[in-house]
Amino acid sequence: MSEYPELEKLREMAFICNRCGACREKFSADMTEKPAFRVCPIREHDGGFEHQCARGRLTIAQALLEGEITYSPELIESIYTDPDCGLCTWVCDSLPLLDPVAVWRAMKRDIAASDQLPEPLREQDRRIQTTRNTFGAKAERAKWARALGLPREGELLYFAGCYASYTQTEIARATVAILRHVGFEPAYLGELEWCCGYGADMVSSMSPDLATRIAADRMDEARESGAEALVTACPRCARGLSKAGEGMKVYDLAVALARSMGLSF
Ligand code: SF4
Repeated sequence: MSEYPELEKLREMAFICNRCGACREKFSADMTEKPAFRVCPIREHDGGFEHQCARGRLTIAQALLEGEITYSPELIESIYTDPDCGLCTWVCDSLPLLDPVAVWRAMKRDIAASDQLPEPLREQDRRIQTTRNTFGAKAERAKWARALGLPREGELLYFAGCYASYTQTEIARATVAILRHVGFEPAYLGELEWCCGYGADMVSSMSPDLATRIAADRMDEARESGAEALVTACPRCARGLSKAGEGMKVYDLAVALARSMGLSF
């Protein structure tokens, strides 16, 4: 059995890169001008080395699969600098044959399964399990909603997420005001709300099993509250929860507003 079972499943994808370099610097269409913009924000801001763009990372994946290298703490750390933004996949424009981000996600699943998750992420796992939020904050999660009289149950559940609950509470209050303005009366779980699992599908942080379990638990709570749909103003919560929410509609605020105006997506 392969030492890297998840990466092994994407072997063909990892080797299909033709090393064109478009994921390194994006050129104008006719290739006559200087690079219009650089692609990976990590490569842009952290030295500009090859392993910080998709082409270099795919070379690393190939070397792992060929047994030329193994994971070291430094290599693992560099894999986790990937922000999972997907810009390299968009620039590469080779779906479904090649999705560079899917390759790093597979690598991260292998790293977590072999108990090599970097210590800061282990610490984050512990924080979320003990305090139910990504910051480790001990303060009341639902303080921002005290004066709003939000019901605990309802057809549309507002999921604030950790950032709007603790550090950008104006987003939570504004979201409720906007939803009410267009005719919704959102419910809110208050102190029962937890971290969403931090983008369970992205594997950009946390151990994937824990992230998936947390996201699934959040969706169970939403169903138990009688909600038929969940809305959040956090794109990361929306993305993670929608992957875990079979049978439950999960809307980003912008989409919910567009639908309330009769626009369909
Ligand atoms: S990942 Fe895509 S864009 Fe980047 S070098 Fe390979 S084929 Fe080109």
